[in-house]
Amino acid sequence: MNTTFEQLKQHCMGCRDCALCETRHNVVFGVGNPTAEVLFIGEGPGENEDLQGEPFVGRAGKLLDTMLEAVGLSRKHNIYIANMVKCRPPQNRDPLPEEQAACRKWLDAQIRALSPKIVVCLGRIAAFKFISEDFKVTKQHGQFIEKDGVLYMGMFHPAAILRNPNQKPLAFADFVALRDKIQEVCEHTEFCFE
Ligand code: SF4
Repeated sequence: MNTTFEQLKQHCMGCRDCALCETRHNVVFGVGNPTAEVLFIGEGPGENEDLQGEPFVGRAGKLLDTMLEAVGLSRKHNIYIANMVKCRPPQNRDPLPEEQAACRKWLDAQIRALSPKIVVCLGRIAAFKFISEDFKVTKQHGQFIEKDGVLYMGMFHPAAILRNPNQKPLAFADFVALRDKIQEVCEHTEFCFE
């Protein structure tokens, strides 16, 4: 991790700027390559993420990793994964608007440090914020939308795919489209097949 990102992480780990700090076990800052050209944004940590301090672990995280690996992507090598809020909302409720607002500075700083070419929004909450407030995941997943020189794509949240496995082929097609777009616009991303 480069110095800027490491300093940012250290600051974030001590954050107590909203009420979620009272119930968290760990601040879940993010994981991945801090020079990645592709950033995945989720909503917030769940129980396993809160306990382990890493985003997208547990069953949904395993499914995400499997789909990433199928197209040569990996949190260890060539992408970065972060959430909109860094501390777990109790009972996995949606993060409140004031919690999202308080935490936004950390994600904004991560985006500035990474300067990604592609941002993938995992699920509706991230897609609402970064793509459009009337974004319909079921209709618009897999479409790229350009804003200020950055390409945004909304995808099904892996937890939603676990609840509705019929979405798996559609989700996989989105990962294939993502791979193709990376080949088109990302100069430094090297695909890895472990
Ligand atoms: S959710 Fe974000 S703003 Fe709230 S305490 Fe955690 S790091 Fe700070």
